[in-house]
Amino acid sequence: MDRFGRVHTDLRVSLTDRCNLRCTYCMPAEGLDWLPRAEVLTDDEVVRLVRIATDRLGITSVRLTGGEPLLRRGLPQLVARLAALAHPPELSITTNGIGLARSAEALREAGLDRVNVSLDTLRPERFAEITRRDRLPDVLDGLRAAHAAGLAPVKVNAVPVRGVNDDEIADLAAFAVEHGYRMRFIESMPLDAQGAWDRERMVTAEEILDRLGARFDLTPVERRGNAPAEEWRIDGTDALVGVIASVTRPFCGSCDRVRLTADGQLRNCLFATDESDLRALLRGGADDAGIERAWRTCVGGKGPGHAVGSPDFRRPERPMSAIGG
Ligand code: SAM
Ligand code: SF4
Repeated sequence: MDRFGRVHTDLRVSLTDRCNLRCTYCMPAEGLDWLPRAEVLTDDEVVRLVRIATDRLGITSVRLTGGEPLLRRGLPQLVARLAALAHPPELSITTNGIGLARSAEALREAGLDRVNVSLDTLRPERFAEITRRDRLPDVLDGLRAAHAAGLAPVKVNAVPVRGVNDDEIADLAAFAVEHGYRMRFIESMPLDAQGAWDRERMVTAEEILDRLGARFDLTPVERRGNAPAEEWRIDGTDALVGVIASVTRPFCGSCDRVRLTADGQLRNCLFATDESDLRALLRGGADDAGIERAWRTCVGGKGPGHAVGSPDFRRPERPMSAIGG
């Protein structure tokens, strides 16, 4: 628990900072200086930290992310080890979907519960412009495979950007309804590596809802627990659509997340400007109690909320892809 009474039960683990796409709102075309392999936590180190988190620190759900987590070698084996812990967390993954067609079944068998797939457009040329790679069919195959493997509900995440894909908001929702996926729209955040984020190009939750409301009748769904998404039921269907308004309606007051970067730094906020070096503890021979203490200190030092939009806002040094989105 932090000093504001928020209880942290949700852990995001970045498994790699590398990626096979170059989404324009995330990374530059040339990619980034990837972490040297020796700095990335090994499977044993990840499993140990998640064991401490679930045995001693009350973590009940773990989301694997990146970078692109499907690029991590031996991912199904790592998932199986996490699922076999004494207090197994709910296990999910956030992925761009490339390669998911091949791995969905193995991940499900290993113990993965759910998947979120990022998809910003249904148009192949536009997909190639946004991600700088012509891979839309792979993502659509991945979605189908995840659904068929029972990784339900399959969630689809889109980041609308003005003048790029904001005209597809209702189409994406209709696509999700048709296939039985759960659509969620995320306000873009100043976490791209290039520092090119522009508030004017961010599509606000209000605008997203206007676009959806023009096509569908929506009924608000009561928010569950600390979920960041506000959700609506699309009338006449059993489909839900969600909006994550990190910038215009921040949910910091009920935040229950901590984040572990691929190089073993614990962060108490996506926007945190400092980190706790758990890798140094792991590799320096710390015992479980020592790691538990460092974790509690990190969470204890969490601030009340981020200041995106205020003059005091300072971007974290690492971009989203390196923190783990
Ligand atoms: N590569 C995986 C993927 O794309 O799903 C996982 C990592 S990615 C950083 C996680 C999520 O962050 C994706 O849904 C992506 O769209 C989102 N994202 C990336 N940059 C963002 C930004 N500047 N603002 C808001 N969301 C962003
Ligand atoms: Fe890769 Fe995900 Fe960033 Fe796109 S949003 S470049 S898929 S890490």
